Amino acid sequence: MATVALKDVSKVFPNGTLAVDNVNLDVNDGEFMVLLGPSGCGKSTVLRMVAGLETPTSGAVMIDGEYANDLTPPDRRIAMVFQDFALYPHMTVEDNIAFPLKLAGMESTPREERVASVATALGIGDVLGRRPSQLSGGQRQRVAMGRAIVRRPRLFLMDEPLSNLDSGLRAELRAEISGLTRELGVTTIYVTHDQAEALTMADRVAIMRKGVLQDVGTPTQVYGRP
Ligand code: ADP
Ligand code: ADP
Repeated sequence: MATVALKDVSKVFPNGTLAVDNVNLDVNDGEFMVLLGPSGCGKSTVLRMVAGLETPTSGAVMIDGEYANDLTPPDRRIAMVFQDFALYPHMTVEDNIAFPLKLAGMESTPREERVASVATALGIGDVLGRRPSQLSGGQRQRVAMGRAIVRRPRLFLMDEPLSNLDSGLRAELRAEISGLTRELGVTTIYVTHDQAEALTMADRVAIMRKGVLQDVGTPTQVYGRP
């Protein structure tokens, strides 16, 4: 669980592109915030600044009241999932999910228990022995999510995680992702250009256009319907 605050955040890339223009946004503890807007409006740049992968040109990103850029990667406790799942192809599902725990030095028994509970929650408990090439697209995305959340991050950042999947699977995974993050109570920022996704998943939606945050509110406040 964590709070995120963007205060007067702007990002100008070295080539002069103003990608993010004076954005102010507060994300509450345990909230599912969707960042919605057309391609190129600055959503990923906002997410990357929250992750500490880009530095704001001006303004500040705070996580639990601390400057994101002052936090070392381990102290950030942030998990990210992108549209290309980037699983380790030579490892089984179990080893993919367990990998962050292994790096953190967790013993094999608690590791196996943690992996099993995450895999069960994601409906992939029966494919733990397979390799990524033997999985469907939806299963791969579930493995990527499992690997991301297995260390119990305080903040979960997702950038268009469903855009490479077909529409039936997208709808199914939308419900799963929002259910899972709520169950875990993890604060989530979810980037998409898909309004239906925003409406079905968000506690609140933040709408961006051309680097500017235009509107923030619940789906009902923003669109007049749930
Ligand atoms: P979105 O995620 O909404 O598609 P981005 O945050 O990726 O938007 O990009 C916002 C703007 O910043 C776009 O005009 C994009 O071309 C530009 N941009 C993104 N990354 C860079 C970069 N590293 N250098 C220069 N311009 C960039
Ligand atoms: P321990 O506290 O036993 O050392 P942890 O896994 O809790 O093991 O934390 C080890 C380091 O990794 C800490 O600095 C912690 O902040 C960081 N950390 C914990 N969980 C995550 C996570 N989900 N993502 C990234 N870093 C994390």
